[in-house]
Amino acid sequence: MSSNEPHLAGFFQLELRQWLTKAGWPAFRAQQVFHWIHRRAICEFREAGNLPGSLRAWLQEHAIFPSLYERRRQTSQDGTVKYLFGLGDGETIEAVMIPDEHRTTVCVSTQVGCAMGCTFCATGQMGLHRQLNPAEIISQVLHVQHSHTAGPVTHVVFMGMGEPLANYAAAIKALQLLHDPQGLNISYRRMTVSTCGLVPEIRQLAGEGLPITLAVSLHAPDDQRRSAIMPINRRYPLAELLPACASYAEDTSRRLTFEYALVKGFNDTKNDARLLAERIRDIHCHVNLIPVNSVHDTYQAPTAGDIDRFLSILVDRGIQASVRRERGADIDGACGQLRQREEG
Ligand code: SF4
Repeated sequence: MSSNEPHLAGFFQLELRQWLTKAGWPAFRAQQVFHWIHRRAICEFREAGNLPGSLRAWLQEHAIFPSLYERRRQTSQDGTVKYLFGLGDGETIEAVMIPDEHRTTVCVSTQVGCAMGCTFCATGQMGLHRQLNPAEIISQVLHVQHSHTAGPVTHVVFMGMGEPLANYAAAIKALQLLHDPQGLNISYRRMTVSTCGLVPEIRQLAGEGLPITLAVSLHAPDDQRRSAIMPINRRYPLAELLPACASYAEDTSRRLTFEYALVKGFNDTKNDARLLAERIRDIHCHVNLIPVNSVHDTYQAPTAGDIDRFLSILVDRGIQASVRRERGADIDGACGQLRQREEG
């Protein structure tokens, strides 16, 4: 098998049918193969009982499946599980499963590394190694579904390694595959795509007609500080980014999320809260305040009192906001940390 073989998990059912029938297999086999991969989330064809041995052997020979394998797993005391996956070319990526009372969320990677260079991010320091294909993106969810016996995956967030909108076509196809009613059948409303602020792609995404949630990493209320930690802000400053966010919310009728990591002494003062509220007051949005991960050496979280004060200032000004609980604090929770540790 060469690396030119297709990744099976990245086919829509129609594409799978065309590919199989072209090779002489009956069309109905496509539905069975799709069902085993996406609905039953098998990790190898040995588990696919109703497929003839000849088809299994042929698939093994002519396609790539699975698209990744588990290399390492860390489990937090709060139930959060972090996975390190190996890919066919030896690269590694991370995904996280976050269990909650009524939901199971999987956070997936969309690139190996990232070109965006955000200073607070371990992945950003690696640079971009390569794009993930749709199969590699959704296989993270399928693998978690296969290994997590406590219930179905209900939510997917594209917030792991990489900038999803810089791998636009693959990210869109992955969303559509996850939504396929014959597959995992996850509602678009339970999927979130995060971006550091690629303005043209935000505008393009608004036209796709997918009722997903868009989460924009803001992290600072002015250009000077945002550019210092997020180089993308020099290309698309707030004067361009915020109108694109407002248009997105208007065009899609979806409430947008702003992610704001609270860092002690950097962006957590009363004035910062007032300035932030002023800048986003006309945008249909929710602000997620995220006290930075306390395992980080460089940045410290504000005190609980300062976090409450920041939140109150936003809420008093009519901004919907909440503080996001830190999950997986006792494992390598932040994106890129587990890979970094593994690679030494
Ligand atoms: S925070 Fe996201 S966009 Fe920024 S460098 Fe890390 S992975 Fe890339």
